[in-house]
Amino acid sequence: MNYEDNDSRLISTEFDYSEDSDIELSLRPKVLDDYIGQDKVKEKLKIYIAAAKNRNDILDHILLYGPPGLGKTTLAGIIANEMGVNFRVTSGPAIEKPGDLAALLTNLQEGDVLFIDEIHRLNRSVEEVLYPAMEDQVIDIIIGKGPSARSIRLDLHKFTLIGATTRAGQLSAPLRDRFGDVERLELYTTEQLAQIVTRSAGILGIEIERDGALEIASRSRGTPRIANRLLKRVRDFAEVVFDGVITEQSAMKSLNQMDIDELGLDQIDRTLLLTMIRNYNGGPVGLTTLAASIGEETVTIEDVYEPYLLQIGFLTKTPRGRCATPKAYSHLGIEYQVE
Ligand code: ADP
Repeated sequence: MNYEDNDSRLISTEFDYSEDSDIELSLRPKVLDDYIGQDKVKEKLKIYIAAAKNRNDILDHILLYGPPGLGKTTLAGIIANEMGVNFRVTSGPAIEKPGDLAALLTNLQEGDVLFIDEIHRLNRSVEEVLYPAMEDQVIDIIIGKGPSARSIRLDLHKFTLIGATTRAGQLSAPLRDRFGDVERLELYTTEQLAQIVTRSAGILGIEIERDGALEIASRSRGTPRIANRLLKRVRDFAEVVFDGVITEQSAMKSLNQMDIDELGLDQIDRTLLLTMIRNYNGGPVGLTTLAASIGEETVTIEDVYEPYLLQIGFLTKTPRGRCATPKAYSHLGIEYQVE
């Protein structure tokens, strides 16, 4: 997946490695009770964790899916923490060869959580090593080449695989079927995001009023990662331009200056909608055509822009392509004309 074009976007959901990673880490909740929202998923996980601990057993493999920045990695870390086991993190594209995965798996200790981000990007030969590992805690390794090659079977410790993906539909059926539990994370409500912003402000020592937190929350596109990022940028404005406190006024002014409108849309969202309206009469327009018209990757449109635009009812998906809704027209101040 290529989010490179997005790196400079304030509302980008991509993890920014240039951000102070200690700060990023300190903002991640460590226990389920500090993990705000996703109540249904949390309730289920609480039960699974209690039951597994009771039986002195390990957790079944879990697949988490949903748009980037919603807390999949955070939740996986919490699960490991609550189970009292090690948390090993890797990602689909990082595991290039079956041997890379074999090395990871043989180093796991009893009960460890192995987290594979972007699990839909594992290549086929690596994926095949995962099947017997998930099912029977064994891996088959081929030693040697050509006619003298032979396969040996290695026993692994019991482990829990937590896979994360932005697109569950792209997972192969055999892989999906090996997860005992599949959970979908939802976009957060403004109230939940305001709680996250308030919590993060507390950790970072930022003074913030409730209305200031709500203002940031309402422009964060339902995504905690964006909420935390906007909080840090608004703090800069509040310190330099205002008296240091984040109020509704200072938040509003800072966010307006950053060109993020009251619904959290930025210049690129507006270009996307305007292109659909002006060049394609509001749609339907195919994803590839749209991507080419605005110079973005199709996956970026699908993973980063669309979930929120669909959620707020600005876009619809039809079999013939994407359509801009009357709501989108009205937000952009364009008259909606039915042909
Ligand atoms: P994903 O893995 O889905 O891309 P992350 O787990 O990296 O998302 O979450 C992004 C950031 O958002 C984390 O650094 C964390 O601080 C914050 N965050 C995510 N979910 C929550 C939550 N439910 N409560 C509080 N903070 C959260």
